[in-house]
Amino acid sequence: MSHLPSNTEMEKAYLTRDASYDGVFFLGVRTTAIFCRPTCPARKPLPKNVEYFPTAQSALHAGYRPCKRCHPLEPVDRPAWASQLLAEIERDPTARLTDIDLKARGIDPATVRRFFLRRYGMTFQAFNRARRLAWALQRVQEGAELDSVVFESGYGSHSGFREAFQRAFGEPPGRRRGARQGGT
Ligand SMILES: [Zn+2]
Repeated sequence: MSHLPSNTEMEKAYLTRDASYDGVFFLGVRTTAIFCRPTCPARKPLPKNVEYFPTAQSALHAGYRPCKRCHPLEPVDRPAWASQLLAEIERDPTARLTDIDLKARGIDPATVRRFFLRRYGMTFQAFNRARRLAWALQRVQEGAELDSVVFESGYGSHSGFREAFQRAFGEPPGRRRGARQGGT
């Protein structure tokens, strides 16, 4: 994944030191041959002197040295809002968090989408759905009633649930249960 946001967007991001772009791109400063994170506390370079990179590696390959202030080679920390969302889903994997729910928590859905795509290669909704299905799989394997698993995981119908389950795990829920009972 080396897709970069538009130059206008990246310019705005580094000029405001927007932390949600940390790890999304790096900027090389032509006049100093140093590359930085968008959140670097050092003096902000003029946009005309900036070159953008999707990864720290690509900035290095282009001949830039890592900044001693923002340490662009070190892993990006997970922002507090992301830890909060992940914790919320772990507490209740059946939760369905929509853009409206995110906004209600003071989190920008576009930031969430960008972060999850960049970090996990899927949207937040896809992550939420995958986590919910993994929970359902676990319940089925524990021998829970299919009716209650369908209901608890928030699927309106058996067919909707079976379809999602089959798509995620490549076999229907009943097969999974049987596999476990007959196995080790
Ligand atoms: Zn820097």
